[in-house]
Amino acid sequence: MQVKEKILQEVKPINCRHFIDGNYVDSINMKTFENINPATEEVMGRVAEGGKEEVDLAVAAAKKALKGPWKDFTTQERSAVLRRIGDLILERVEVLAALEAMDTGKPYQMALEVDIPRAAYNFHFFADYLTSMGTEAYQQDQTALHYSIRRPVGVVGMINPWNLPMLLLTWKLAPCLAAGNTAVMKPAEWTPMTATVLAEICKDAGVPDGVINLVHGFGPDSAGAAITEHPDVDAVTFTGETKTGTAIMKAAASTLKKLSYELGGKNPNIIFADSDLDEVIDTTLKSSFMNQGEVCLCGSRIYVQRPVYEAFLQKFVARTKDLLVGDPFVEGTKVGAVISKEHYDRVNGYIALAKEEGGTVLTGGDRPEGHEKGFYINPTIITGLTRDSRCVREEIFGPVVTVLPFDTEEEVIEQANDTHYGLGTTIWTNDLRRAHRVAHQIEAGIIWVNTWYLRDLRTPFGGMKQSGIGREGGMHSFEFYSELSNITIKL
Ligand code: NAD
Repeated sequence: MQVKEKILQEVKPINCRHFIDGNYVDSINMKTFENINPATEEVMGRVAEGGKEEVDLAVAAAKKALKGPWKDFTTQERSAVLRRIGDLILERVEVLAALEAMDTGKPYQMALEVDIPRAAYNFHFFADYLTSMGTEAYQQDQTALHYSIRRPVGVVGMINPWNLPMLLLTWKLAPCLAAGNTAVMKPAEWTPMTATVLAEICKDAGVPDGVINLVHGFGPDSAGAAITEHPDVDAVTFTGETKTGTAIMKAAASTLKKLSYELGGKNPNIIFADSDLDEVIDTTLKSSFMNQGEVCLCGSRIYVQRPVYEAFLQKFVARTKDLLVGDPFVEGTKVGAVISKEHYDRVNGYIALAKEEGGTVLTGGDRPEGHEKGFYINPTIITGLTRDSRCVREEIFGPVVTVLPFDTEEEVIEQANDTHYGLGTTIWTNDLRRAHRVAHQIEAGIIWVNTWYLRDLRTPFGGMKQSGIGREGGMHSFEFYSELSNITIKL
């Protein structure tokens, strides 16, 4: 096993301060909290703990910046700034990937190959998209001409989760800046480091002071709540748990903020007997355990058609046992540590519950050998549960999947839809008609056929039911991050 010594020598964890009006600052009362490395359980740094006062300062700076030089940037100038941010992220890809791995416990290699390049691409994509946009115009016979203009929404609050910190923050920030808004960002309390570096990158790329602001801290009764309640925050984009979404909606109601929600999921992975089993298993390993299963899109409810159920399980269990679990900085690690002690206990609680519910743990449910410290859980496959069991119905958000057999197409569609979530679904089949037929009946915002996690940033991304409100991506992002005014000229 080769440890990535060089990167650990070069990159040290950082202490995190807020970034307000173009400067790094401490909290007014100097309060901080610990930043814990989930792979070692060690305290690796301290994070400024913001609250209402810091959010007030950040929102005031963002509001002022709407009137400053930012509003006069031409489309080309804004596009150039976005492109530079993407370039600077790529220049610092190793540092950012190392900090992301330390904060989250995810494999360094994944951060290096997926999270950080995608963060850069979010900026590059919207830098291009921005320059190709038009607006609507309608001629009403000889009576009138109608056309619309697009303006920024204003100050946008961004509340982020810990699982894909840099990828998801930039998925919001890039279109937000492209549309000419200003931002107040709050990263998850568990993962503050890459957002802190991103603030400096934005400044270096030429983003004027006050346009982006960053406040660290917790959610309820803290920085998160202060953003959602602030009268001068015009819109809030939130990615996180469904129940947090409910709390934010209540808080945002009194000032009627525009909201965009990307929430939880319990996504079905439906495997028909006519699919290519080896291809299914290659991808199902990723859709089950990538990022320790801490991806909102993970296919944690696996349904396999009866004729291939046993063959699937045999191969899937064997391949899962081969996954290297452990230190994120060891070459070849595929599954790292889950985010926190609290989450580790929660995921293990679900595994215990599965046994009480009559399930059989085919592999996993324990810790990898030789790891006394760190929040590690071996990838876990559970069978023998009924569709009503809590482990089949609730989002576990860890390296745990349940596998259930099914017989008919109708039956699996009914089971797949029997949930209040509606984020993603994967369908495996080589029958073209069936692929379309099933996809049209699945209640989810994102449906993949014979693949998973394949994204094109022009397409609508988001969930239905309690998995989200609105869509982001391409034009859909601009719908959220801008206001349209229609102008009618009587001819
Ligand atoms: P979480 O809801 O606990 O926290 C997310 C953020 O909200 C954090 O920054 C937190 O501090 C803040 N927050 C918490 N309570 C708040 C409140 N009352 N007011 C304002 N802010 C508050 O979610 P998490 O545990 O960080 O992330 C995991 C969840 O996110 C999972 O449910 C996962 O499915 C979901 N998720 C969804 C997507 C998607 O695209 N749909 C992507 C990633 C994660």
